[in-house]
Amino acid sequence: MTTRTPTLSGDVLAAIGGTPLIHLRRASDLTGCTILGKAEFLNPGLSVKDRAALSIVTDAERRGSIRPGGTIVEGTAGNTGIGLALVASVRGYRTVIVIPETQSAEKKETLRLAGARLVEVPAVPFSNPDNYVHVARRLAERLAATEPAGAFFANQFDNVANRQAHVDTTGPELFAATEGRIDGFVCAAGTGGTLAGTAQALRALKPGITVALADPEGSALHAYYTTGTLKAEGSSITEGIGQGRVTANLEGFRPDHSFRIPDTEALDIVFGLMREEGLSLGGSSGINVAGAIRLARVLGHSHTIATILCDGAARYASKLFNPAFLTERGLPVPAWLTETAGDLP
Ligand code: PMP
Repeated sequence: MTTRTPTLSGDVLAAIGGTPLIHLRRASDLTGCTILGKAEFLNPGLSVKDRAALSIVTDAERRGSIRPGGTIVEGTAGNTGIGLALVASVRGYRTVIVIPETQSAEKKETLRLAGARLVEVPAVPFSNPDNYVHVARRLAERLAATEPAGAFFANQFDNVANRQAHVDTTGPELFAATEGRIDGFVCAAGTGGTLAGTAQALRALKPGITVALADPEGSALHAYYTTGTLKAEGSSITEGIGQGRVTANLEGFRPDHSFRIPDTEALDIVFGLMREEGLSLGGSSGINVAGAIRLARVLGHSHTIATILCDGAARYASKLFNPAFLTERGLPVPAWLTETAGDLP
C-alpha cells in the first residue's frame, strides 16, 4: 500500500477536487486500452457536482451577487444541491433546493441532512412552466425580495461558472495525472458543465485529443450532435444526466463522437465494477464507462481514455440496487443482489 501524505489544507472546501484516477481493469482488458475513471465520488459531498457548486458560489461572491447570510436557491436532481448546501454551510449562506419528486429518497435525505430546505415538485419537462428549474428561478426572485439578506439563483444549467470549474480543475488534473498521455475523454451530460469544461481544457492542453459524449436514452443530445436536431427517444433510470436542450454550458462545444448507451449496458458495467473491482457507483458512472469502452473501440488498442465516476451507489440503493425496482422496469436483476445470508450453507 502506498501512503499519501496527509496535508493540513484548511476547511472542507479545500478537499474538493484533486481526486485519484482509478485503472478500470475489466474495461481495459476488454479493449486493450488503458481506461481510467476519475473518482469524483470521493469529493466531500460525494459527487462531481461539488466542483461546480464551489465555482458557482465563488463566482457569485466575486460578482457581488450574493450577500452574507443570503439564500442560495437551485433546481437540482440532487448532487448539485448537496454540493451547494456544503459550500453554503462553510461560507455562511442558507440553501433552498427545488427537486423533482422522482429523484431517489437517499438524495433527498442527504440534502436535508446537509441543511438544505427542500421543495419537491412533480417531474415535468423544461417546456412546462412548472418544471423544477423554472420553479426555482421564480422562488429565487420571490426570496430576493423577502429575505433580509436576499437570494441568489445558482442556475447550474446556464451559469457557465459551472463549466469553468472543469476548465480550471478537472481537465488539467486529467492531463497531469496521465502525464499528458490522455488520448480520449468521454462522459455524459446533465448540465454539460463536466463534458464541455473538461473538453475545453484538454483540447487546449493536448490538441488532437478525442472527446465523446455518452448519452443515456431519453436524452436529445445524441440526435443533436449526430443529425443536428434535438430529439429524445426512450427513457433511462439513470439520474442527473441526459438533456433536452443546448444549455449555456454546452454552447460552443462539439464532441468528436457521440454514443447512445442503453441502461442494460450501463447497469451491467455498474454491477461488474461493484463485484469485480470494488467500485460502488451510481448509474451515470455506468453510462460513462460504457462510453469509454465504445470510444476505445473507435480509437483502437493502446490508447489512454479517461472518464468520470460521478457518484456512489449508496445514493441509489432503493432504485438501481433494488430487485423489485429493476424487475418493474424490465431490467435484469443480477443474482448476487437477491442472495441473502440465509443462502449460506
Ligand atoms: N452524474 C450525476 C450523478 C450527476 O448528478 C450529474 C449532474 N447533474 C452528472 C453526472 C452530470 O454532470 P454535468 O451536470 O456536469 O453534466
